[in-house]
Amino acid sequence: MLRKILYTAGVILLVAAVVFFGFVPGIIDKKINTTIHQTNAADKVAWYDSIPFIADLHCDELLWHRDLLARHNYGHVDVPRMQEANVALEVFTIVSKTPRHQNYDHNSDKTDQIALLSFAQLRAPSDWFSLKARALHQCEDLHQSAARSKGAFRVITTRGELEQYIKDRSANRSLTAGMLGLEGAHCLENDVNNLDTFYKTGVRYIGLTHFFDNEWAGSAHGIAKGGLTAKGKELLHKMEQLHIMIDLAHQSTKTIDDIFANTTGTLMVSHTGVRGLCDNGRNLTDAQIQEIGKRNGIIGIGMWETAICGTDAAATANSIKYVADRIGVEHVAMGSDFDGAVDATYDITGFTEVVKELINLGYSRSDIEKIMGGNVRDFWLRNLPEN
Ligand SMILES: [Zn+2]
Repeated sequence: MLRKILYTAGVILLVAAVVFFGFVPGIIDKKINTTIHQTNAADKVAWYDSIPFIADLHCDELLWHRDLLARHNYGHVDVPRMQEANVALEVFTIVSKTPRHQNYDHNSDKTDQIALLSFAQLRAPSDWFSLKARALHQCEDLHQSAARSKGAFRVITTRGELEQYIKDRSANRSLTAGMLGLEGAHCLENDVNNLDTFYKTGVRYIGLTHFFDNEWAGSAHGIAKGGLTAKGKELLHKMEQLHIMIDLAHQSTKTIDDIFANTTGTLMVSHTGVRGLCDNGRNLTDAQIQEIGKRNGIIGIGMWETAICGTDAAATANSIKYVADRIGVEHVAMGSDFDGAVDATYDITGFTEVVKELINLGYSRSDIEKIMGGNVRDFWLRNLPEN
């Protein structure tokens, strides 16, 4: 009898484990990386596929442990969809810790949803406990995808590599590339020296905080929402020396002010909206936009509702115009936040809808080519380490 009970309990546990580890991560992924509509391929702008270099400054695809090289009918980014959408460059950012009940206004650092996700995804046990380990594993995943891709996808870390890629891609439009960034520096685990490790793996921009205040700085969504700490200033200085760009997305107003005051380095905002059209504490003020323009920085405009106060490409195009009207068309770009637990207007194959709306706003083809990726290409050519 006892044997029978133990056997039954064992079978139930096994079935539960198969269901949990086999299906739950995929269900979460599908449930929180949704799209409002699918772009109709027949509606592509006639010259869309001739745009030389389309780029996006921010996506969180690596968090979901998918095969980047396979086409998915959910989520927002993979290499086959980048190829279909003529996208040359996507920046893959590392999310290493998010709070339970995440919201825009008030989050503490006490909970860690990525620990649970890492467990459910059957990642290495080190990932369950160490922010650094889980962040480095995501970086390695991107390099491994490049190694498996038979040349279809590569990771860019230097200006020399980018120049070579631009040359290669002018002869072969099916080539794709990625870069690495960090969304929150808490994965440095409070040690400035860990920056070298992340630099070596290819990280080229860092936002100091994500959804909660950390040891480096205050977040727009934290509790104190303070500025740079003494350690944060030290980290910023070292980032400048290594040519790692400073991402202002998700930073508190005080942190952004402190960054303006403590560095003369080039700044970027990987995914955002503007308060002039969509007023919330995460979006950029006019004064912040002006300062980023003065420093020859770049601003990536989002495609989710809280960034642009709209659910279509017209809302993204209007926010792009808002920035371009103030600091010039060469300082604005795409910053989708695809796969960042957002209900996106469309997946990456929907970029053509932004082009259509920019045409409606009266932009020339050459300006649209800058906005759609020429600016990102030139930004990285100016700012990446040489080799
Ligand atoms: Zn984000």
